[in-house]
Amino acid sequence: MMNQIKTGYRYIQFEKDGNGRSVCPKCWNSYKQRSHLIRHLRYECGVDPKFKCTHCPRRFKQKSKLLTHVKSHYLDTQSS
Ligand SMILES: [Zn+2]
Ligand SMILES: [Zn+2]
Repeated sequence: MMNQIKTGYRYIQFEKDGNGRSVCPKCWNSYKQRSHLIRHLRYECGVDPKFKCTHCPRRFKQKSKLLTHVKSHYLDTQSS
């Protein structure tokens, strides 16, 4: 059974798995609520990570993850 949701100006078709969870057609993450899948498609799935590390080429989707990562750079320089 196919379902459709609208993200911005596009319609995206998705399927439900055996547990009735809405499955992302791009990365196969599944969500209990359709609204969670919509949020995922709008803000997470296929979106370029915004937060760049200034010490290395890594990028992060969440600022908190970047901050944790940046701290690890400082820990590295202290221990070596
Ligand atoms: Zn996805
Ligand atoms: Zn880094």
